[in-house]
Amino acid sequence: MRCKICQSEMRDVGTKVSAQTERVFNLAHCEVCQFSCVSNPRVDFEQIYDEAYYRGEGADPSVSYETEAGDPRTSRRYEWRGMLRVVQSVRPVGEETEWLDFGCGLGGFVEYLRAHGFRRAVGHDEGYAARRVETLNIPSLSARDLDSANGRFDVITAIEVLEHALDPLAVLRQMCSALKPGGVLVLTTGNAKPYRDKLTAWSYVVPDVHVSFFEPETLARAMRLAGLTPEHRGHSPGWTDIIRYKVLKSLHVQRQSWSEAIVPWPVVARIVDWRLGVSAQPVGSRGDEDSSA
Ligand SMILES: [Zn+2]
Repeated sequence: MRCKICQSEMRDVGTKVSAQTERVFNLAHCEVCQFSCVSNPRVDFEQIYDEAYYRGEGADPSVSYETEAGDPRTSRRYEWRGMLRVVQSVRPVGEETEWLDFGCGLGGFVEYLRAHGFRRAVGHDEGYAARRVETLNIPSLSARDLDSANGRFDVITAIEVLEHALDPLAVLRQMCSALKPGGVLVLTTGNAKPYRDKLTAWSYVVPDVHVSFFEPETLARAMRLAGLTPEHRGHSPGWTDIIRYKVLKSLHVQRQSWSEAIVPWPVVARIVDWRLGVSAQPVGSRGDEDSSA
C-alpha cells in the first residue's frame, strides 16, 4: 500500500491480534517518512465508538469517559491541566480565545476549560460522542459547523486523536483550515520512534482503534503538507501533568490520591519523556498567509 503521508510504497512489518476482538491486523511502515499504520483497519465506526467504548467497555478498556466526566477527582484532570499549561507556554490565551478541542470525546476538556474561564471553548467529535455531548449541554460543533468554521480558531487542541484517524493528513488539513492565520494546533499522539523496528511490541498499537503512528519528523512533514508550520518545542512544565496522567492510566489509577501525590512527578515525567519522547511531537501553526486554497 501507499504511504498516507508521502505516497511511497509501504512494507509489511508484522501483525497484531486485537486483545478485545481477536481480529488480526496488519501493520505497515514507510521507510521514507517513517509513517506506520494498520493496513486493514476497521471501518465500522459506529460499532467501535459506541456507548460501551465511552464507558471503558469497548476496544480500549483503559478509559471510562463516562466515569471521569462526573468525577472531580479523576486523574484525567492532570492531563487537562497539563494541556492547558502547554498551550499557555506556546501562546497567551484568555477568556476571548477561540478554542476548539478536536476529537473532544464526551467533552471533559471543554468543560475543564470553560470552568477555568475560557468561555469560548467548544468541542468537536463524531458519532455517539457528538450526540452524547449534545445531551450533556457541552458546546460543540457538528461536522458541518466545522466545515464552515474556516479561519475561526486561535487554538485547536487534539488530545490523542490523530492515531485514530484513517486519513490523518485530511484531519490535519481540516484542523489547519479551522485555524486563524497565526493560530496554533497543540496535539498529543504517541511517538513511534523508539519502536521503529519493533512496532508490534508497542503497547500503544491497539489496532481496533489506533491505526496511524507518527515519529516527530513524520508529523512535522504531515503538518507542512497540511499547511501548518511545525515547531518542536520539547519538554515544558505542562508535560509533567500530561505524563503523570499517562503513567497513572497505564497503572489503572483512575482517581487522584495521596499515594500517587507523593511520587516525585517532575523527575518521573522527565525520565519517561527522555525514554519515550512524549513531548517531542511538534506544535503546528497556520501561516499568516491564507494557505487553505
Ligand atoms: Zn511515507
